[in-house]
Amino acid sequence: MVLKAELHCHIEGAASVTLVERKAAKYGADVSGFIRGGKFVWHDFTSFLHAYDQASMLFRTQEDYADLAEDYLLALSRQDCIHSEVFISTDHALSAGLDPQAYIEGLAEGMRRAKDATGIEGRLIATGLRHKGPDAVLAAAQYIVDHPHPLVTGFGMAGDERMHHPKDFAPAFDLARDAGLGITVHAGELSGWESVADALDALKPSRIGHGVRAIENPDLVKRLADEQILLECCPGSNISLGVYPDFGAHPFAELARAGVAVTLNSDDPPYFHTDLAREYEIAKTHFGYNEDMLTAVTATALKAAFVDDETRAALLARLDADKTVRAGDERFAGSVSSS
Ligand SMILES: [Zn+2]
Repeated sequence: MVLKAELHCHIEGAASVTLVERKAAKYGADVSGFIRGGKFVWHDFTSFLHAYDQASMLFRTQEDYADLAEDYLLALSRQDCIHSEVFISTDHALSAGLDPQAYIEGLAEGMRRAKDATGIEGRLIATGLRHKGPDAVLAAAQYIVDHPHPLVTGFGMAGDERMHHPKDFAPAFDLARDAGLGITVHAGELSGWESVADALDALKPSRIGHGVRAIENPDLVKRLADEQILLECCPGSNISLGVYPDFGAHPFAELARAGVAVTLNSDDPPYFHTDLAREYEIAKTHFGYNEDMLTAVTATALKAAFVDDETRAALLARLDADKTVRAGDERFAGSVSSS
């Protein structure tokens, strides 16, 4: 099994059906409208957002969020994941009636519990929601800069990329970058390559969430490769939301061949009936990736992770040690079969 890392997952969108049902029982909520047969059910973007919001509203206390982060990171660890970065949104906390500080503390506590149990590293990336407009995103950045937390190491923007222009959000991103936070922006998923180019020009991210539609412009692909901008690719999500008709049409492998740093991520796993292990499996089945190539994808993610140098070195050493063990196993298997 290849060791994995994940850089792109929305924590509310990572809540498993089982955990959501447990919280529904706690709060006496009816989930029959969006959970059936152990699965989240939705049929278009509107019903997807509805299911997502209904489930998110069942996380209301610091302890609920601790459970959420712990449950998700333990699940990742069972998939041989050694590092996880999740997007958080203080807007979700506020709409659930929770103080943003309790929200962050709860998530951080869950990450600590998972790390104590399994060694998995976890970090939080604060996000603003693009469709809420520049003032709301600036407020989200301002909040996180005024309330620093050791596990909040990045700032990003999610939400509908078809709304507003990236330059409208430059003040928020300047603020976050000046405070030392890593920068990532969702772009090139629902909108085309221009959205990625505009985000690069205006917001200077080191990583782009999705970014796959950069493939529509060869000059932009070259720029991504030259500047080593990492793409947080989420193939399963892209197929679920119809960005591409099937995995054969997905540009992951083509971007990689052009020298772009690409990674594998699950986005909102149970909604897209996926998880990180399945994303790695998709790369194997549909993009022709073998174990060495998948290990290189993990290394790419760790090199661009929003962690301090010491943590990065430890994670890369863990990946290296695992690679050596696997290479040894293969040699052993080879000598047995040839004898
Ligand atoms: Zn996303």
